[in-house]
Amino acid sequence: MIVHCCMDVRGALKMTQRQLGAMFRHSDGRRLSADRARDVLLDHVAAGHEVIPLGPVCQGFDYKTGCPGHETEPQA
Ligand SMILES: [Zn+2]
Repeated sequence: MIVHCCMDVRGALKMTQRQLGAMFRHSDGRRLSADRARDVLLDHVAAGHEVIPLGPVCQGFDYKTGCPGHETEPQA
């Protein structure tokens, strides 16, 4: 069973500018500025999202409860 990490959107909004600036990256590895990161988080709040995935959205991800967990194939 795999459960992916997710982050509480409101909790993230309480972080300092310095923490926010270190938290998010574009897919190409560039850092998001703290102001831009805050904008992204506010967009999630506006959309009713309570948690966001750390990394790509996985199958069945729920923006209120997070990753549902994934069964893993038993090793043959
Ligand atoms: Zn997952």
